[in-house]
Amino acid sequence: MTTYRVAVVAGDGIGPEVTACAADVLDAACRACSGFALEFIPAPAGAGVFLETGEALPPASLAACRAADAVLLGACGLPDVRHADGTEIIPQVTLRIALDLYAGVRPARRLEGVPTPLAGSPPIDFVLVRESTEGIFASLGGGIVLGDELATDTQVITRRGTERVVRAAFRLARRRGKPAPRVTCVDKANILRSFAFFRKVFDEVAAEFPDVAADHLYVDAAAMELVRRPERFDVLVTENLLGDILSDLGAGLVGGLGVAPSADLGDRHAVFQPCHGTAPDIAGRGVANPLAAILSGVMLLDHLADTRDDPAPQAAARRIEAAVAAALVAGEAQTADVGGRASTLDTTRAVLKRLV
Ligand code: NAD
Repeated sequence: MTTYRVAVVAGDGIGPEVTACAADVLDAACRACSGFALEFIPAPAGAGVFLETGEALPPASLAACRAADAVLLGACGLPDVRHADGTEIIPQVTLRIALDLYAGVRPARRLEGVPTPLAGSPPIDFVLVRESTEGIFASLGGGIVLGDELATDTQVITRRGTERVVRAAFRLARRRGKPAPRVTCVDKANILRSFAFFRKVFDEVAAEFPDVAADHLYVDAAAMELVRRPERFDVLVTENLLGDILSDLGAGLVGGLGVAPSADLGDRHAVFQPCHGTAPDIAGRGVANPLAAILSGVMLLDHLADTRDDPAPQAAARRIEAAVAAALVAGEAQTADVGGRASTLDTTRAVLKRLV
């Protein structure tokens, strides 16, 4: 029986609360399905660790993440804990760079029992793939401010960076197996050369996947269409900043950050984390929604199944998904952020009892 090692970066604020729930659910699903085991390895990082040790991501924690089959991350950072230059503690970003996690995968799937702000509650099931290492974020710390009068940040789009993220998006569309798989390139190619280049490389890669349809949208039109007709989308792929913005739009369409999971994938490493932050306003009160972390755990299992060619974690992933769906339909897993009264523990127990 294979044992997969999962490094757990619990982080700060509600991070430890929701990762504990996700680990309990993963463990229970693993026992219920058999055929594989998970070993959880703590990898402390974050603002709390920074205050204690002076390092946001200690070398031992980074090494544990590198050595693991996958990383489960809560959320890191606290608004009041900052470096001398005023910036926040962001080990999650350091980890993304160190592990070369270039594809931010952000599913937006409507769950029955979680209200959407859209009238008519259309079916929503799309995945946004965000390039995570370049774009305008490549300027991180490298922008110029001239004489308190002018500021610039430079957008970087490379052929290699675009090819690999676009391939990841097409492979994902194939795996999702929709009746008419489609990848939509989102850019601003009508205005900026860098985006025209992104689109050109997208078209070249699309030709390698003749079984998957390809189309394009300018980001402004994409933002409108995601609200007007979200059901038309399957997989979207885009530049870093555009993806950052659109992924929160996607989360908003399906009930908010409390139910939005994510994966950051590279060729050798992968980190799974809820889209939300450390939510200091509700930390320690036992009311945080653990579903985003639990559904990130589902993505972790699917990733193990895909990359290790092992059907056992996939069976466990489907069991958790079904348990979450049933708990929501029964009205037992709605925390305050999605209009309910369940606590973090109530929600987790409602999922756990459907796994035994
Ligand atoms: P946030 O996501 O922590 O909180 C935004 C709002 O959503 C808050 O009102 C919060 O209570 C609510 N919320 C978030 N997750 C929730 C959940 N699971 N259940 C119920 N409500 C939830 O964003 P923020 O307030 O902008 O950031 C707080 C801290 O988190 C900052 O220090 C920021 O840097 C950090 N952060 C970390 C990550 C990460 O580690 N990946 C991501 C975003 C923000």
